[in-house]
Amino acid sequence: MQPADGLQPRLLPSVGPQSREQFMRRRRTTNLTLGGLAALIAVLGCALMGSAPHAQGQGDWIDVHVHLFADKGSLADFDEAARKALQIMDAERIRTMFVMSPPRAREGPDTESLAEITKKYGPRIAMLGGGGTLNPMLQEAGKSTEVSEVVRRQFEETAERIIASGAKGFGEIAAHHLSLAPGHAYEAVSPDHLLLRLLADIAARHDVPIDLHLDPVPSDVATPASLGAAQNPPVLKANIEGFERLLAHNRKTKIVWAHAGSDPLGYFTPTLVRALIKRHPNLALSIRPTSPRPGAVVHATGDVNEDWVAVLRDFPDRFVIGSDTMIVATHYTGPHTPRIFANRGEGQWRGIRRLLSVLPPDEARRIAYENAERLYKLGR
Ligand SMILES: [Zn+2]
Repeated sequence: MQPADGLQPRLLPSVGPQSREQFMRRRRTTNLTLGGLAALIAVLGCALMGSAPHAQGQGDWIDVHVHLFADKGSLADFDEAARKALQIMDAERIRTMFVMSPPRAREGPDTESLAEITKKYGPRIAMLGGGGTLNPMLQEAGKSTEVSEVVRRQFEETAERIIASGAKGFGEIAAHHLSLAPGHAYEAVSPDHLLLRLLADIAARHDVPIDLHLDPVPSDVATPASLGAAQNPPVLKANIEGFERLLAHNRKTKIVWAHAGSDPLGYFTPTLVRALIKRHPNLALSIRPTSPRPGAVVHATGDVNEDWVAVLRDFPDRFVIGSDTMIVATHYTGPHTPRIFANRGEGQWRGIRRLLSVLPPDEARRIAYENAERLYKLGR
């Protein structure tokens, strides 16, 4: 599909227009299950892998929020997931992908294998760190009001190690993460918790962003029945004021607020985002455009929300794209949730193409990749 935004079409020397069209047709009719993906790789693997060197630097957008799932220490399985990521990047015209651990409630895989992956596949694949190490420490510390000096030091040393290992920032870190399915963690800490303020200072020191998951709650509210069956508490606590204190804590900290436009509660609205952007010059947001909710940036039907477009056009330097795609290695043995979410990527990619197609070329380019290049200091 030709972009309507005037971006450079990607050259695909080894996959001609006709075969690309066949591929797109095939992709549309194939759920991105592992079986489907395996079939695609079997059919197109060589051609797509062959195009990778040409694709570098010519993609149409940067995806700042992707998760690879494999067991801790299984480098071969992470490698398999990374190769799937490269296939998706070729098909979806993604210039660079940022991979990271999800915000884990308990210690798990973080940057150990991803550091090897980014050495091998960088700069197309870059990483953030902390979701499997810093985030569990944060969630544990959030249970009490005091943080011991030992925990504080351990947190800071871990954060420094993550940056030293090549991470371009911290993520995914959760201040409020709703549970959407049984086995999918509920996480909540005060958004201006001492360890989050410490992380903000470390991020500022290194001039790297924090990818923050914060399902917004403007005032205390009973958990809606639709989310009651998962692991959520009966009442969700207000968190916007705390978030604003975190943003104000260190103005040099770049916070990328994840999943704009498709939160499960419906409070992540253009009105809220506009107000926070105006008050906080260090706030950026990554757009996960599609959901079936009426407030989505791009509704599942393809309708684009005019109120969101107005905010994007008024503040085109504050937004990047984060599809939240989950890529699961064949032999992954962890919780089942990533496999449940793994086939949602395709709807997001469609929504991203749709969104970029309705924006004026200059604004589309900034949101598609220029802002990400600046925020994450790509090429430097
Ligand atoms: Zn998230």
